[in-house]
Amino acid sequence: MNYRHAFHAGNHADVLKHVVLLAHLDALLRKDGPFFVLDTHAGRGRYLLQGEAAGRAVAAINPVDALLAYPGSPLLAAQAMREQDRLAACELQPEEAAELKALFAHDRRVAVHARDGYDAVRALLPPRVDGVRYARGLVLVDPPYEAQEAEYPKVVAAVREVLQRWPQAGVAIWYPVKQRRSLQPFFRKLAGLPARSVLLAELLVRPDDSPLRLNGSGMALINPPWKLDEAIAPALPFLQRHLGEAGASTRLEWLRRDEG
Ligand code: SAM
Repeated sequence: MNYRHAFHAGNHADVLKHVVLLAHLDALLRKDGPFFVLDTHAGRGRYLLQGEAAGRAVAAINPVDALLAYPGSPLLAAQAMREQDRLAACELQPEEAAELKALFAHDRRVAVHARDGYDAVRALLPPRVDGVRYARGLVLVDPPYEAQEAEYPKVVAAVREVLQRWPQAGVAIWYPVKQRRSLQPFFRKLAGLPARSVLLAELLVRPDDSPLRLNGSGMALINPPWKLDEAIAPALPFLQRHLGEAGASTRLEWLRRDEG
């Protein structure tokens, strides 16, 4: 495991992922009932920017008038959550997990697990914390795709497991786009899952003509909350304008949508 998210934190893929994550959390916050978030590949929670500005999304954790750190997915989730909500954050790399544990040492709403996030789907779902069952929530699956093709079957199997164990949950999967056509088998698998709906939100910052670099990324949203597509829609052209190069594009598309 050589991947360290610090080399990628705050890039266009992180920004897309976190904008969609925040929109999903917003939808969960609309109801009073508690929700549970499982972050299967959580990272260290906070990344130093070394002077590189990353926009307003990071201003909240930067009390002085300078952008020093970029928040990762578990920190964004914890910042959005209320007293009644809970987060389980899994991270396999020991140093990253230790940093994440330190970050949340004083937040009793957050449990950090130094373990495999895919195994955690079986171990932690359906969520039950201190005797409370959580009907609503979100599973974020954000693996490093280090082993490339080998990651996709693991992701699909994990989503299948979530749907069986916790059918009320939404699942958000981040995926890289190098050449989009190579993702077709993955999309076919997602469309074939026993889910009510599957939505894709993508930002390509340049044409997807090279298999060697990250030209963009997407979030596959399984059983997204009502009107999440409408919440995300205006953000995509904004991100394209601010982060894209010549030939950039966005996509918001239902892979599957069962009406009624
Ligand atoms: N979700 C984070 C965020 O948005 O801030 C970024 C996560 S980063 C893309 C992927 C993380 O997964 C890395 O920190 C890596 O060490 C960790 N990782 C790799 N394989 C894992 C596994 N099987 N279970 C849990 N974590 C894993």
